[in-house]
Amino acid sequence: MSTSFRRIFQVIDGNKKFVGDGFDVTSPMPGPRIRQLSPYLLIDHTGPMQVAPTDAPLGTPPHPHRGFETVTVVYEGALAHRDTAGHSGSLGPGDVQWMTAGAGLLHEERHEKEFARQGGTLELLQLWVNVPKKDKLAPPRYQNIRSASIPSLPLPDGQSHIRVIAGTYENLSGPAETFSPITLLDVHLTTGAEATLHLPADYNVGIYVVKGAITLHGNRPAATKQLVVFGWDSPDIQVTATEETVLLVVAGAPIEEPLATYGPFVMNTNQELVQAIADFESGGMGKFPEDE
Ligand code: MN
Repeated sequence: MSTSFRRIFQVIDGNKKFVGDGFDVTSPMPGPRIRQLSPYLLIDHTGPMQVAPTDAPLGTPPHPHRGFETVTVVYEGALAHRDTAGHSGSLGPGDVQWMTAGAGLLHEERHEKEFARQGGTLELLQLWVNVPKKDKLAPPRYQNIRSASIPSLPLPDGQSHIRVIAGTYENLSGPAETFSPITLLDVHLTTGAEATLHLPADYNVGIYVVKGAITLHGNRPAATKQLVVFGWDSPDIQVTATEETVLLVVAGAPIEEPLATYGPFVMNTNQELVQAIADFESGGMGKFPEDE
């Protein structure tokens, strides 16, 4: 029997946008060709961008979220975060922040102070991850996942490797706690490296090319800042790196529930969005100390 690979549905280019005053973003999702890849709702890739030295770090001003999680992966430079649930921290290359907005909070994301002072290259990626209806109003949570705590599976060439951020891959388990079954992989391939990824056939699967270029299944190319979306007909995806490559593999069991979104809120019904806006406007998602 010949090997069959997971069908390729789409290869999607990103749209450019600026987020706050500090993030030069390319985003392949959501967009006209894909609303979501449940449970993933958004992929925002910042940079690589040059940050000029400053004592006033750029970023986003405080803004609310409810009903989902923001997941931030830093590749280069450093990011600082704080929220009205009392969490704060900074993250650098290889670190991951997994923030549960839950019932609601305000947060602020800025270039980290010392990084901003020196200036340099910033590159990071933020995902929005949906949660099941029963968990949408969970207490906010903050997982600051250090690079060293993320297990890494070496590939046969000795340099390529797969870091398991969430879920289980081969015999490794990622440190992130999630509300629904998710596998999130940070894949680093040297030029010419080949890998066959095995993921549950019933998962939604996307491969976002952070850097470099790949050939899939021996014939379909995908390049930097493209998102490849797959079908459900096989667990296997074959990847060959045609240059030094970094991929983010976003996989997970789809959450088969209604989706209602408005800006920073992700709920199941329009009534819940109206409630989220009312709760935000009445101060119910918290305040930063200096605003009290
Ligand atoms: Mn945010």
